[in-house]
Amino acid sequence: MKILIADIPEEGLIVDLHERLTTDDGSVIAPVVSHLDLQKMGTEVMIRGSLRTEVSLECSRCLQPFRRNMDIPVNVVYHPLEEVAGEGIPVRHALNADEMDMGFYREGEIDLQELLREQIVLDAQMKPLCDDKCKGICPKCGTDLNKGTCTCSRESVDPRLEVLKQYFQKRKE
Ligand SMILES: [Zn+2]
Ligand SMILES: [Zn+2]
Repeated sequence: MKILIADIPEEGLIVDLHERLTTDDGSVIAPVVSHLDLQKMGTEVMIRGSLRTEVSLECSRCLQPFRRNMDIPVNVVYHPLEEVAGEGIPVRHALNADEMDMGFYREGEIDLQELLREQIVLDAQMKPLCDDKCKGICPKCGTDLNKGTCTCSRESVDPRLEVLKQYFQKRKE
């Protein structure tokens, strides 16, 4: 669903969506239900709301597929791409803009499906776990430790944990 910025009234626009959505990895397995509040601030458009659906993900520890109900907040400020291309990094006019994601629109319209798709993909990338207590797989022999045990020693550091550590350190910077 596409929204023309010019069609958003001064008092804002509430959009309720309930539709099927596909992502490249096919992770979305239920209709997406979303409630969005669109507000114009100059050339920027603030979109706040929520998004619910069900996704099928691969556990980052044991690599088994599992289903998860997704219920995430949507907080995005859209800037006109044309303006950004001319001026470089956009100035953040919006209040609390630091806590909001940044998006770009072009030719005066925002594709809400694209917005929801991005939010789902972003959330799905956050180290999905089938269960908080998932034991993962043995890095040496590949045994799924939720299903069985192996005789390998656990003293060496799991190289995947090392990668994660670096990832979080980078995110902090
Ligand atoms: Zn798992
Ligand atoms: Zn093992």
